[in-house]
Amino acid sequence: MEKQHQLDALKADILANNVTPDLAAQATQLVMGHGNLNSELFFIGEAPGKDEDLTGKPFQGRAGQLLNELLESVDIERDDVYVTNIVKYRPPKNRDPSRAEKDESWPYLERELSIIQPKVILTLGRHSMGHFLSDVTIGEAHGSLYDISVGGEQYTLAPLYHPSSTVYNKQTRQHFFDDLPKVLDQLK
Ligand code: URA
Repeated sequence: MEKQHQLDALKADILANNVTPDLAAQATQLVMGHGNLNSELFFIGEAPGKDEDLTGKPFQGRAGQLLNELLESVDIERDDVYVTNIVKYRPPKNRDPSRAEKDESWPYLERELSIIQPKVILTLGRHSMGHFLSDVTIGEAHGSLYDISVGGEQYTLAPLYHPSSTVYNKQTRQHFFDDLPKVLDQLK
């Protein structure tokens, strides 16, 4: 089946299975991943915020602008990569998604990965990194590459800081902008 049809089926399953029902009940809509379905780069954030909840697309607000700036800095168009979140509905008042909400959403993210089949998973922040790596902090792992297996498939994992964490922290912002070119260089 074509990738878009598989993603449509995935979305239909998330709706039919009433995944994270408490979040779904309060959110405007389900926010699926967006971008180039054939991209080698698959970015994973945490959960939609207000702008994402309204537009139905991930990383649209301030965090999205920073992600766009990061991609522009390495001459990559936002539409050339695939961007998604672990949790597909906005948590009320932008609170962190709970462990249970992330665990419930995880199998659907695994399916999303197996549909897109990227080469590299770039996690944005410690929440999405934490699903793949348990023994390191984002401070230790950012900018490094890891070989991982998800659902029997092999991927390269590149943990990055979450764009929102760079807004008030100059040092984190510097790492955020330094890490992606470094990661892309190591992949050459
Ligand atoms: N933060 C995230 O983790 N994801 C979004 O889509 C927006 C902000």
